[in-house]
Amino acid sequence: MASIFSTLQSEKCPQCGSGVVHLEWRERVNAREIQDLWRCFNCQNEFVTAVTSDEREPSVAEITKPFFTSLVV
Ligand SMILES: [Zn+2]
Repeated sequence: MASIFSTLQSEKCPQCGSGVVHLEWRERVNAREIQDLWRCFNCQNEFVTAVTSDEREPSVAEITKPFFTSLVV
């Protein structure tokens, strides 16, 4: 049985447990966190989930890696 809805998102409605939810709004809270606003097609409930990026900020040592510049004068 094929679903007519896209199942790219794996969120489920916390109120009725339906997986048929629609992403209404996506907001970046800060550099590492995004909040998604979902609406449930089944019970019209709206709920928010937070997505935190696992990307680590590059350390200073990685940014200022040593390199040699030989300027020919
Ligand atoms: Zn629901």
